[in-house]
Amino acid sequence: MDVVGHWTNGAEIESASGRFGEVFNPALGEVIAKVGFADQAEIAKTIASAKAAFPAWRDTTLARRQAIIFKFRELLDSRKGELAEIITREHGKVLSDALGEITRGQEVVEFACGMPHLLKGEYSENASTNVDVYSIKQPLGVVGIISPFNFPAMVPMWFFPVAIAAGNAVVLKPSEKDPSAAIWMAQLWKEAGLPDGIFNVLQGDKEAVDGLLTHPDVASISFVGSTPIAQYIYETAAKHGKRVQALGGAKNHMLVLPDADLDLVADSAVNAGFGSAGERCMAISVVVAVEPVADSLIEKISSRMAQIKVGDGRRSCDMGPLVTQVHRDKVQSYIAAAEQDGASVVVDGRGVVPDGDPRGFWLGPTLIDRVPLSSKVYKEEIFGPVLSVIRVNSYEEGLQLINSGEFGNGTAIFTNDGGAARKFQHEVEVGMIGINVPIPVPVAYFSFGGWKHSLFGDSRAHGEEGFRFFTQTKVITSRWLDPSHGGLNLGFPQN
Ligand code: NAD
Repeated sequence: MDVVGHWTNGAEIESASGRFGEVFNPALGEVIAKVGFADQAEIAKTIASAKAAFPAWRDTTLARRQAIIFKFRELLDSRKGELAEIITREHGKVLSDALGEITRGQEVVEFACGMPHLLKGEYSENASTNVDVYSIKQPLGVVGIISPFNFPAMVPMWFFPVAIAAGNAVVLKPSEKDPSAAIWMAQLWKEAGLPDGIFNVLQGDKEAVDGLLTHPDVASISFVGSTPIAQYIYETAAKHGKRVQALGGAKNHMLVLPDADLDLVADSAVNAGFGSAGERCMAISVVVAVEPVADSLIEKISSRMAQIKVGDGRRSCDMGPLVTQVHRDKVQSYIAAAEQDGASVVVDGRGVVPDGDPRGFWLGPTLIDRVPLSSKVYKEEIFGPVLSVIRVNSYEEGLQLINSGEFGNGTAIFTNDGGAARKFQHEVEVGMIGINVPIPVPVAYFSFGGWKHSLFGDSRAHGEEGFRFFTQTKVITSRWLDPSHGGLNLGFPQN
């Protein structure tokens, strides 16, 4: 059986901790590898290798750093099929979707290639007589990244291209459910010419995470995962003096106004609800239909759902399995809860017949109508292929519903009324908004992040905010004396 190791100082090393996690192929329902969990010695060794490599990388010219990141981009672009296969094997999503997440990650690598521009400081000549003031941006040092299972390539790439471009050394702690993508990317960095120790991978569970959160040589933490863990990460890392950005969970609503194109809405709801088996933080999980459109919309959505092929992601299917049996069972339990709470299950994914091994962690796309707002099916993040419909009588009622939720990651409005869309973008309390676009993930040169319990900290991922997060600024006030200066002056310079 394969054992997935850490990547420390430019090489994969097997864990000697004696603690392991099982890595499944969710489409086969069987264990395909083990991943070693870091102990204290391995945590210390990995952080030390990053710390040792940092000064030389910080001092490497912008042109050289840029060339290495560009090379990484070229290698990634030409070999992304290998990475997609790894993702499909351990996560379960279909190959085209795995390629899609790599492409979105690659966009951040491309954005990071422009870092000489983004790392420029400011200069004010003659702020006072013969005094110039200027600022420079410098890297933080060793930065920690902790990522979730659902995007084993894209989410780390939201952060590490920017962190490395800015001159930092990275320690990535991937999800223990799909740990191999990180090792593949580490190998690629080596081939691109990145010095050993600048990109490290520390495999593990809470012990590895806590090691990063509390180690004095780790300057910052970038986390993506569920809300309770994000809150813990934010509080613990901040208590240990670190800069922290912690992106949490989501419950994304799609508001459908009566004038919307219902065929477009139905396509969008199905794509955004069931792509990647609903295991996306920007998935649509609630359709808020402003009456009288609900019945007709449900009919259109159901007929499209009947065409979704569920199966092994290596075959030509639309939707793969869920990531683990435990997660599948949990998602499935929400369907039973919906029935108990009086909702109506319009399409039930529990009886799905997959194009794949019967031992896989299957659940078909599920549509639930008339979900009571008090039900946990409405209130909690489900993170699976379960789409709820809530009926409301007005735009105002729909808006109020969205704004009263715990999360504020993404939302979408579907309408042909530009004025209504503009009102919505102004009034809704959510960080990323789609107008007739169901999954409004910002492009790499904007920043990604939600509001409320979808983001703890004040910095979002990539874009200019990413560079701000991974750098610290020095402001220098300088005076080069000319022969005419002189005299004591204990006050502030006046002019
Ligand atoms: P998770 O919170 O279980 O795990 C995320 C990371 O935290 C993993 O690396 C895991 O090993 C670690 N972790 C888990 N339990 C921990 C603990 N008790 N202490 C310390 N570390 C711990 O999340 P997941 O199940 O891997 O991913 C799905 C979640 O991520 C969903 O809630 C989803 O909405 C969220 N997510 C959010 C975004 C976003 O941009 N806001 C993007 C992707 C995923």
